[in-house]
Amino acid sequence: MLAQQPFVFLNTSIKPGTKNHFEIPVISEKDSTFIPVTVFHGSKSGPVLGITAGIHGYEYPPILAAQQLNQKIDPKQLSGTIILVQIANVPAFLGRSPFLNPLDGKNLNRSFPGKPNGSITERLAHSITSKIIARSDFFVDMHAGDAPEDLRPYNAWYHSDAFPEVSQKGRDMALAMGYDYSIIFNIPKERFKKPSLYCSQEAFHRKIPSVDIECGRMGIPDKTETDRIVNGMLSLLVHLQMMDSKKQSTSIKPIIIAKRFTIKSKSTGLFYTEKKAGDLVKKGELVGYITNFFGKKLEDIKAEQNGMILYMIGTPPINKGETIMNIGRIP
Ligand SMILES: [Zn+2]
Repeated sequence: MLAQQPFVFLNTSIKPGTKNHFEIPVISEKDSTFIPVTVFHGSKSGPVLGITAGIHGYEYPPILAAQQLNQKIDPKQLSGTIILVQIANVPAFLGRSPFLNPLDGKNLNRSFPGKPNGSITERLAHSITSKIIARSDFFVDMHAGDAPEDLRPYNAWYHSDAFPEVSQKGRDMALAMGYDYSIIFNIPKERFKKPSLYCSQEAFHRKIPSVDIECGRMGIPDKTETDRIVNGMLSLLVHLQMMDSKKQSTSIKPIIIAKRFTIKSKSTGLFYTEKKAGDLVKKGELVGYITNFFGKKLEDIKAEQNGMILYMIGTPPINKGETIMNIGRIP
């Protein structure tokens, strides 16, 4: 076997068995920021795994998990290379801003593949696409329920009949991570003609097996959810044969959700519910209601089908047209 070669990232040569930290500068005409990235270059050869945390800066368990992975991954024990984005959206993180980058008001996870000469969020997306996604053989984007979103943990893989082998590899990655619910993101062929918009979908458009994690809720820096993400990522490293199998493995067989439906609000006002993420709902069941600002009921919210609430609005403000609940059909 050939000796492992250095890995060159941003003109820096990283020796096998070592890691380097980078702050990638991202500068637009109006604003400037940076992306903190750690590259672990294993002592043995293997694939390149790209990981992003903090695409949404108010989703803390993935960000805290990335901080832990920085301590737990030993490049001397690693086969292959990991490019770990510690926090993709530093302005949203430091600005405590849900969904949006406060500098330009854009959602980074609706901005891929990005633009080299666009606004600061579009440049962040472009930088992640060109410097991290384009270098990856496998890709994971880590999310949680954002500030108002109650969520029960799951992961998801991208599937398309256009790329069956890539889809199968994504499925194998997702199932190796120990989540009890896994979702199929099915991408129709026509969709590839349009911009990817989502970070992990950009990887899939480039035929890279791609998985999303959704773990954590409502901006809470919860330890259980953080640990679940860390353990899932370590299990993934074993599955990809990047880490020794003695350390981590999973025997959980997840329930696979192929179909989801959403309940959208027809009114603006205050949302009331006694439901929480993870609850089962029945077709026709009353799951909440909306009032105007004087307490008058505007609409009852009913489930249109049987299923389990994957995520939902967990706080009172509601705008017309918003998704109130995303419900998975249990097979
Ligand atoms: Zn998110």
